[in-house]
Amino acid sequence: MANAESAQRAEIGVIGGSGFYSFLENVTEAEITTPYGSPSDSLFFGEIAGRKVAFLPRHGRSHRLPPHRINYRANLWALRSVGVRQVLGPCAVGGLRPEYGPGTLLVPDQLVDRTKSRADTYFDGEPLTNGQVPNVVHVSLADPYCPAGRAAALAAARGRDWEPVDGGTLVVVEGPRFGTRAESRWHAAMGWSVVGMTGHPEAALARELELCYTSMNLVTDLDAGAESGEGVSHEEVLTVFAANVDRLRDVLFDAVAGLPAGEERGCPCRNALNGLKTGITLP
Ligand SMILES: [Zn+2]
Repeated sequence: MANAESAQRAEIGVIGGSGFYSFLENVTEAEITTPYGSPSDSLFFGEIAGRKVAFLPRHGRSHRLPPHRINYRANLWALRSVGVRQVLGPCAVGGLRPEYGPGTLLVPDQLVDRTKSRADTYFDGEPLTNGQVPNVVHVSLADPYCPAGRAAALAAARGRDWEPVDGGTLVVVEGPRFGTRAESRWHAAMGWSVVGMTGHPEAALARELELCYTSMNLVTDLDAGAESGEGVSHEEVLTVFAANVDRLRDVLFDAVAGLPAGEERGCPCRNALNGLKTGITLP
């Protein structure tokens, strides 16, 4: 932590696995602590197209954390505390429509929360370790994703000849089990597009910290109700993810390069707390 002041700052955060930063040169690592405890792992700092990026392995570098055990509050807080203001959140999902088969890239514009047990707000009235007490605050999540970030992600995918699905609803379930056929058919019947386990509360917490957040969904399987086979297996998910990680990384890096510079953020994300008395100082 000796040189944390200068080198270990970033403007953009990427929450995803080590496959996204292990090919970068001169990556430095820093352990960050937050009033909400420890994030999933160290932050890994690298540079892409002149932009300083902090990577955070969502499940820990050895993938030890299941989705419901991730400390999402610490993760987003840690990113903000090193200067991050825009976050890209790539994740694996199941497709809820036959046409969203493995290898589909979807950039959702809506979110449904079906999780059960996750701390999903900073504003719950519980005192922080630094003595500050957050007020009860209600932010708008009508549009959960950053419009500028979505545009950058879509343009990046098209630039790599990977035609993305522009918009759709990500439904987030508690996991770690996959869905039953009935759950899957219900999700599809509601008109939702893809199902994942980590998209909530990442987007909601980012909004509470006035961060831009963009979700990028790689379909690794058809969910149980969208196909007639045996249902989803973890092995299948890992295989499809591995087969697509290189091009997903290319798209991710291009999206980073295409994000507006911090001072040029024209989206509403950075004003999410305007007029609200939060009781806490954001890092
Ligand atoms: Zn934004």
